[in-house]
Amino acid sequence: MGNKTYKLYDYLCEKENYESRDSQKMFLDIVEKTIDKGGIKIIQAPTGTGKTYGYLIPIIEKHQKAIISTGTKLLQEQLRNDVDNLKSFYYKLTGNNVSCLVMKGKNNYLCLDRFNNYQGKPAEMLVEIEEKLKTPWDGDKEFLQKTDSEIWNKICVDEDYCTDYYRSICKYKDECLYWAKLKSRESQADILIVNHALLALSDFGDIEKEEFILVIDEAHELDKYITSALTKTISTFMLKGILDYIKQFLPSDNLDVEKFFNNLNEDFSKLGVGEEEVPLVLKDNNENIQPKFPLIEKEKSSFLNEFKEQILDPLEKKYMDNVRKNVVDEITNHIKGKRGWIGPNLKSYLEKLSLISWEELSGTAISDQDSQDDEELIKKLKIYEFLQNKFIKVKDFYETLKGNQGKYGLSISREYNENLQTYNYIISLFPIFPKDQKGQFDLNRYKGVIITSATADPEDLKSTLGIEGDFTNLPHNFSYKNVKFCICNVNPSEEKEKWRECLKQSFKWLVSKYDKVLVLLTNKEDFKLFQNEPGTAFLRKDEQVSKRVEDLKKGRIKALVGLDRLWFGVDVPGEKGILIAKIPFEYPGDPLNFYRKRYLGKNFWEYYKRKALIKFKQGIGRMMRTRNDGGTIILCDNRISNHKEFSEFIEELKSRGLVVVKECKCDDKFLEEVMKSDKEK
Ligand code: SF4
Repeated sequence: MGNKTYKLYDYLCEKENYESRDSQKMFLDIVEKTIDKGGIKIIQAPTGTGKTYGYLIPIIEKHQKAIISTGTKLLQEQLRNDVDNLKSFYYKLTGNNVSCLVMKGKNNYLCLDRFNNYQGKPAEMLVEIEEKLKTPWDGDKEFLQKTDSEIWNKICVDEDYCTDYYRSICKYKDECLYWAKLKSRESQADILIVNHALLALSDFGDIEKEEFILVIDEAHELDKYITSALTKTISTFMLKGILDYIKQFLPSDNLDVEKFFNNLNEDFSKLGVGEEEVPLVLKDNNENIQPKFPLIEKEKSSFLNEFKEQILDPLEKKYMDNVRKNVVDEITNHIKGKRGWIGPNLKSYLEKLSLISWEELSGTAISDQDSQDDEELIKKLKIYEFLQNKFIKVKDFYETLKGNQGKYGLSISREYNENLQTYNYIISLFPIFPKDQKGQFDLNRYKGVIITSATADPEDLKSTLGIEGDFTNLPHNFSYKNVKFCICNVNPSEEKEKWRECLKQSFKWLVSKYDKVLVLLTNKEDFKLFQNEPGTAFLRKDEQVSKRVEDLKKGRIKALVGLDRLWFGVDVPGEKGILIAKIPFEYPGDPLNFYRKRYLGKNFWEYYKRKALIKFKQGIGRMMRTRNDGGTIILCDNRISNHKEFSEFIEELKSRGLVVVKECKCDDKFLEEVMKSDKEK
């Protein structure tokens, strides 16, 4: 147990009725030592440890600058509330302030220049933004009620638009919500709250990392977020967007992008289905997996060749070259028309873009200010630069795939767009393991690193991200004596019909006993089993977790059914039922799993099982959110007894009071008996 005293911690316990916990004090001590001596520490902190205060208290007391990274934007907001609470206690205690800044990815913020130049369709969101701009709104789209992602993409901060060149002459640079208001506060903040995606891209400023402690919270999801942040994509819509910009310069030209993707679809469809090798997966807009395609190097090479011949070469040689000529002609004519007198911003931008020679530029003179014509030309040059940057991304995608075949995987998915009445094909190039992306994720540059989660697994962090550190497994805090864990005697892969029946029966029983039921599924197809159940809501792709969880807490719904997002990080305190459909092995045909299997060979099974165990522990972890919680968990999968690690985890919970009922029958009579008895069966 930690022996050191913390003024702020003692104050909270003595004056604010905060409950002192041994495991939390141990957490505080580890963080304090890391601040003093550095190193990378991995801390598994079971539910109830109070890990957020566990790292915030020493950071605040020792005036340590810190970057705290968590999984989602929602969790960033929760962290902001925790920091605000502690800040106010610390101020009461010492009279000192702590500054904290929440940073999200650039494209979460409004770009005033793009917004004011937007010429697309009108929308409620634009009216709301006009209103928000009259308030102290920081430009974060999270705080908008009316959103339209298509429009947002055209008005948000975009690195291809807001380049260093352009930023220096942007009309709005002094009032820019992102650069002038938010980023300027970054280096002064004591605590920066970021998310894992931002962390992966190191896109949070010119700070001296050596002065900062990095805390990675919710570390069980780090691999997922980092892999996704390092994924490069191209899509039908992205390429069509590039062509729309090209048309502003070359109105009569067109490149049939859709034909390329449709042909691609047909080509891959001819390849047949392979169970073992499934690299290229087409998903429709309902996330149902479409045909699976075996990968042999020939197919990847043929994709590369076709992409080069049909997309990259025409874009580069026919279009980009002609656009450039067109722009250069326009500049030359503009300068001639002005008899060499051009505005300061136009001149500065032209110098940086290097579109015309130095001699031509040195023959110009600077007028007092940019004329309207100059500004029109700046806008055109801006579009050209934006287009050029987007094209570089397409080229980079091709070069990365060509040069790193062993380290990257490829997948194809598609979504139907109702507005455009067509499919958007998305080709993703993802790192098989982020640990192979040298220099992308270097933790050694920080003063010290704390990596924590309720299910932090050092082996997982090492094998996927290459992170190694000293591991501490903190003791559990809550008793499980009010929890029953029923294992139904059914094998989901061999007895499908019986398993479906078991799920339905177990669900009916749980909702008859509890006002709050969570149904943790592994396949969207199984949503159908609960479709007609009254009081049941489904956590679909675009549904806000917080809103649905609130509905459940407030009794507006009785049951919430979901996939991944329901297994991780959902907090529903009180008595409840949890239905776990099966041991959560990921879909083996998922492209990432396919490539990881190829990469790991015979070691894949260990990796695969570890991932399932982390998710399973997280799912079970939904039960005890506070000391007084309890209820029943039903697992419709008897295969748990075949997997030592899963059984060991259940044994560990048994030692803390969990009542385990094996060979559970899904009939009311049996379950009623289970409820009455406190004994194991
Ligand atoms: S500085 Fe960049 S982000 Fe800010 S308004 Fe101008 S273009 Fe947009």
